[in-house]
Amino acid sequence: MANQEIDVLILGSGPAGYTAAIYAARAGFKPVVYMGGQPGGQLTITTDVENFPGYPDGVQGPQMMMDLQGQAERFGTEVKYGLATSVDFSSYPFKVTIDESEEITAKSVVIATGASARWLGLPSEDRLNGKGVSACAVCDGFFFKGQDVAVVGGGDSAAEEASYLSKICNKVYMIVRRDEMRASKIMQQRVHNAPNIEVLWNSVTDEILGENEVEAVRVLNKVTGEKTDVPISGFFVAIGHTPNTEIFKDYLDIDEQGYIKTETGSARTNIPGVFAAGDVQDKIYRQAITAAGSGCMAALDAEKFLAEKELETA
Ligand SMILES: Cc1cc2nc3c(=O)[nH]c(=O)nc-3n(C[C@H](O)[C@H](O)[C@H](O)COP(=O)(O)OP(=O)(O)OC[C@H]3O[C@@H](n4cnc5c(N)ncnc54)[C@H](O)[C@@H]3O)c2cc1C
Repeated sequence: MANQEIDVLILGSGPAGYTAAIYAARAGFKPVVYMGGQPGGQLTITTDVENFPGYPDGVQGPQMMMDLQGQAERFGTEVKYGLATSVDFSSYPFKVTIDESEEITAKSVVIATGASARWLGLPSEDRLNGKGVSACAVCDGFFFKGQDVAVVGGGDSAAEEASYLSKICNKVYMIVRRDEMRASKIMQQRVHNAPNIEVLWNSVTDEILGENEVEAVRVLNKVTGEKTDVPISGFFVAIGHTPNTEIFKDYLDIDEQGYIKTETGSARTNIPGVFAAGDVQDKIYRQAITAAGSGCMAALDAEKFLAEKELETA
């Protein structure tokens, strides 16, 4: 078992992790980023990113993540393959095990492990992902301007996504499993007030149709057993996200949906020296720019923590 002590250990290589690394490296630390199972994070599975400031012509998701990695490395960040498989935050310095074999110690930890969208699990959904199938209306809604789309789900996120899309798209179908929605009353009201949202009650997605792009969704009415093909060009799955927090649960305050709780206006968790940034602690905005912003906060908080720690031991 190799052992090394790291000043700022960053778990995750999405916009939050790399931004934390850029700031920590420029503050004079030698941050180490462990990339996890998805080097570059969620944006590596998308094509056009058109809403990240600084790219007037848009940028391909994988390219943007290579740019962020290069920027972090330029200032001395060490970027390594490896997944944190367990942590021990009960004593200081913290212990983190990588790939179940290598134990490392760290004086501060930035958790930027993101959240994964939940999918329906249909083969057609997988095949057409990025070709009309999306899990993010704010990211991809614009590509369907003036067109007909569908949103799956009956919770607050689905209602939010449908309301957002109703302002851009011609028509929005909401595919809702039961004869009522789980969404809050106010969100349901917003859905009902939008003239171009049609709710398909008691309905599930049977299949997404189209060869190379989404052309329609086959909807099964669970009460009548009838199947209907609804022509659409965008299919938005809004059935929730799973934050990647399993290994931190024994130590950190986590909310009922699994997100790490941070102190308002900071990246601080309940354990001094452990910080959280990006989608792993954000169930509302879930954007690259907000992830990057909170990565910056985490690095600045870590810098302050380490400076205070040094004073304590001086
Ligand atoms: C298809 C798609 C398109 C999108 N399009 C846009 C868009 O156009 N604009 C926009 O602003 N946002 C977009 N988003 C949302 C955006 O990708 C996320 O908000 C953003 O990537 C979150 O950044 P993050 O750094 O918090 O986490 P992520 O990007 O999710 O990265 C998490 C990182 O943590 C790593 N990791 C996980 N577990 C561990 C572990 N145990 N140990 C070490 N590392 C670990 C992963 O390997 C990964 O590198 C899109 C998302 C998707 C899925």
